[in-house]
Amino acid sequence: MDALTAGELGPDLTWFVLAMRRLEWGYAQLREGECDPRWETSEFDTDVGEVLNDAGANLYYFSVTRSLKSATRCYQAAVLLLKEPYGAIPVENLLRAALLATVKALFILQPNKRKSREARFGHLYHADRSALEYAAFRELKLLGLEVPNDDSKQPQPQVIQESKIIRDVLDDLVAYGNCLCDGRACPQRDIQGFRHRVLLLWDC
Ligand SMILES: [Zn+2]
Repeated sequence: MDALTAGELGPDLTWFVLAMRRLEWGYAQLREGECDPRWETSEFDTDVGEVLNDAGANLYYFSVTRSLKSATRCYQAAVLLLKEPYGAIPVENLLRAALLATVKALFILQPNKRKSREARFGHLYHADRSALEYAAFRELKLLGLEVPNDDSKQPQPQVIQESKIIRDVLDDLVAYGNCLCDGRACPQRDIQGFRHRVLLLWDC
């Protein structure tokens, strides 16, 4: 790649080579994460954020590590499935899950202020909890078991739109700006273009 100019390679091949470089970069990041002693630990860090449950566990830390592990395993599973004759659908589903897990981790890690990070986690957590309470309520009703007669007591699911989380995360990346190294394969180059491509793929 270095010996040839982009013009000699042609636009498609240039794009392909850059994509492969970025995938290599992504794998290196994942390997680094998995080599970190905190990857498997059940102990929790409170440096970045702390939201405790009744049992004293740090839900914020649990959520970050769980999202990162989900993203890693979904990407790895997608790569494995690419070699199998099952078609594109399972790969697309895994990539969708991986993208959501990635942006959820970034969404609660990105704000500079600890209070904003914990507040963002609070939004995500309460949306999940309310979905669970709503499902439990509907199930009890279906089984004819006791539920409050008063409709105003029926839990309403709070929804955080996935598209909004993706857009907020990408907007934060754009605000952070491009890397100044000027390397063509640098993953932090052309962040605006990156935002555009991710949103186009998400729309698809
Ligand atoms: Zn760079």
